[in-house]
Amino acid sequence: MHVHVADHPLISHKLTLLRDESTDSPTFRRLADELVTLLAYEATREVRVEAVDVKTPVAMARGVRLSDPRPLVVPILRAGLGMLEGMQRLLPTAEVGFLGMVRNEETFDPVTYAERLPDDLTGRQCYVLDPMLATGGSLAAAIHFLVKRGADHITAVTLLAAPEGVERIEAELADLDIPVTLVTAGLDEKLNELGYIVPGLGDAGDRLYGVVG
Ligand code: URA
Repeated sequence: MHVHVADHPLISHKLTLLRDESTDSPTFRRLADELVTLLAYEATREVRVEAVDVKTPVAMARGVRLSDPRPLVVPILRAGLGMLEGMQRLLPTAEVGFLGMVRNEETFDPVTYAERLPDDLTGRQCYVLDPMLATGGSLAAAIHFLVKRGADHITAVTLLAAPEGVERIEAELADLDIPVTLVTAGLDEKLNELGYIVPGLGDAGDRLYGVVG
């Protein structure tokens, strides 16, 4: 897996505000949205395009447009939803599929509870959105799911990642021979005993949407 830690002062600035425990939910949602748009710019560097001719008011010009099939954006519910609009701002014609995953709080293993994706993803580039790459279980499962359906190019976009999660994904995807890239705003120090990223930003779903009991 190719890991790209987006290194830009605006990304670091917004990430710092997201980490701040005093940032309230509305501000957190707005900042996450802005940050994802900046990450989307990095994440779509390899998006497939095809050549087209365009007539300007002056002359013909060579240009490009997004190729078919269109890219597929897959937010992992629930927290990945907070990243969807930021991604769609740069890829408005992408299709959107949904994967609902929770982690078992004892084993930390991912459990899929909802899935709304095209049956056939042959030749599709997929952008998986999940704010926190912690243990890596959900993201690895999501990537396997998409590849089994035919996706041949995967980019995961996260706000933060833990080294343990990156290692697990690399180990679990070792048998895949398609390109997988991780684009993240920060690679943090470690996971704590509760599976939280340290220093992290807390529970991204709770901070986006409030605590659901
Ligand atoms: N999920 C979160 O929301 N935060 C973490 O730190 C780890 C997993």
